[in-house]
Amino acid sequence: MNQTEITRTLWIYLGQLALSILAAVAIGYFVGFTGWLVAATLAAHLAWHLSRLVMLNQWTHDQKRRPRPSGGKGLWEYAFTAIARGRKESRERKKRLARIVRELRNASTALPDGIVVLDEKDHIIWANQGAGHLLGVQASHDRGRPLANLVRDLRIVNWMKTADEESSLTLDSIRQSGRKLRLRVFPYAADQRLLIARDVTEMARVDAMRKDFVANVSHELRTPLTVISGYVETMAEEVDKDWTPIVERVELQTNRMRSIVEDLLTLSRLEAGDYGDMENLVNCQSLISSIVMEGRALSGGEHEILVQVDENLHLRGSASDLHGAFLNLVTNAVRYTQAGGRIELIWFRDGDRAVFSVSDNGPGIAKQHQTRLTERFYRVSTDRSRESGGTGLGLAIVKHVLATHDAELVIDSTPGEGSTFSCIFDASRVLDHWPETREVS
Ligand code: ADP
Repeated sequence: MNQTEITRTLWIYLGQLALSILAAVAIGYFVGFTGWLVAATLAAHLAWHLSRLVMLNQWTHDQKRRPRPSGGKGLWEYAFTAIARGRKESRERKKRLARIVRELRNASTALPDGIVVLDEKDHIIWANQGAGHLLGVQASHDRGRPLANLVRDLRIVNWMKTADEESSLTLDSIRQSGRKLRLRVFPYAADQRLLIARDVTEMARVDAMRKDFVANVSHELRTPLTVISGYVETMAEEVDKDWTPIVERVELQTNRMRSIVEDLLTLSRLEAGDYGDMENLVNCQSLISSIVMEGRALSGGEHEILVQVDENLHLRGSASDLHGAFLNLVTNAVRYTQAGGRIELIWFRDGDRAVFSVSDNGPGIAKQHQTRLTERFYRVSTDRSRESGGTGLGLAIVKHVLATHDAELVIDSTPGEGSTFSCIFDASRVLDHWPETREVS
C-alpha cells in the first residue's frame, strides 16, 4: 500500500465526513435540531474510531495469535494490515534468530574448548559443555552465579581482575591432575567478557620436548667443539704457511659454532626459568663501565663510544644476565656500525623507571624487520651477521632477560640514520641509590 493510496483514502474519508455533516445540516433544515444532528453525526464517527482503537488495543496486547480485526475499507484497514504484516515479519525474524542461536549453541558444545560468557560483574550468563569439564562451570545451574565461586582457583580469579585480550594464563588444572590449561579473556559488547579455556597439555609436552632437545643437543655439542677448537688453535701455530688460511677458516667456523651453542644454552637456561638470584643488587655504574671496556676492545678504536651514566641509579636482578643483555646491544652497535661511526650509551631515569639505551649512527633497520628482530635466528642480512660473528640469537636472549627483569626492549631505528635499542625497567626493579653496607654484585 503506497502513500498515494493512503492520501486518496484519507480524502475519501474526509469527503464522507463532510457529506454526513451536510446531510445532518440538510435534515436539520427541514426538521430542526440542526446542532444536535451535527453533534450526533460527529459522535457516531468518533464512536466508530474509538471502537477500532479498542479493537487494535485488544489485538496487539493479545498473546494468542488471533486473526486481525476488520478496519472497514478506510484508514483503519490500512493500519491493521500494516501492523499485521509487521507482526508476522517479527515472528519470523524471532524464529530465525532462535534457530541461529540453537545452532551456535550446538556447535559450541562440540568444541573441546571451554567458553563462558560473563557479565560486567563476572557473573555467568552462559557456558558451553567444555567449560564444565575444564572449569567446573555448568550453564544449566550456574547461570547468574559469580565465576569466582565456581572455579575456586585463586590464580584464575586474580588473573581475571586485570586480564585483557593481550594476556593469557597457562596453569596446571586443579580439576584434572597432569593437565595444563591456557585461559584467555575477550571483552565484547558493552561490559561483557568471553572467557576461553583450552587444554594445552599436548602443546606444552611438545614444547617441553623441543626445549629439552635443543638443550641436550647444545650440551652434547659443547665438549666436542671445545676439543676441536683446542686442536685447531694448536694447528694454527704449527701448520705450514700454505695451510694457514684454511686453518684460520676452520677456526672461525668452530668459534661461530661455539658461540651458537653457548647462546642456545643460555636461551635454554632462561626458558627453563633458571635465572639466578633475581633479587641481587646490581651496581649499574660498574656493570656499564665493564661493558664499555669490552665494547671499546671490540671496536679497536674504530668507533667513537660515548657514555652517560646516572651514578645513583641501580637495579635488582641477575648481574650476569643483565651484563650479557647490555653487552649484546653494545656489540651489535659496534659490529653493525661502519668504522668512524658514533655509539652512545645512556643509563638514565625516566619518571620512576630506568632506561639503558644504546644508540648508533649505523645503517639502521627497515620497519618491516624491527618487530621480528627478537625472533631466534632472525637477521636482516644473514651474510652481514655471519661476517661479524653474529649468531642471530643475541636479541632473543636480550628480550628474555629483560622479560625476567620486568623490562621491555624498545627498538627505534631509521634506515640510513641509525638505531636506538632501549631497555626500559619497571619502577619495581629500580634502586635510587647504592646501599653503603651491601656487597656489590
Ligand atoms: P646477530 O647475532 O645476527 O647480531 P641479534 O639477534 O643480535 O643477532 O640481532 C638480530 C639482527 O638485528 C642482526 O642480524 C642485525 O641484522 C640486526 N641488528 C641488531 N642490532 C643492530 C644495529 N645496532 N644496527 C643495525 N642492525 C642491527
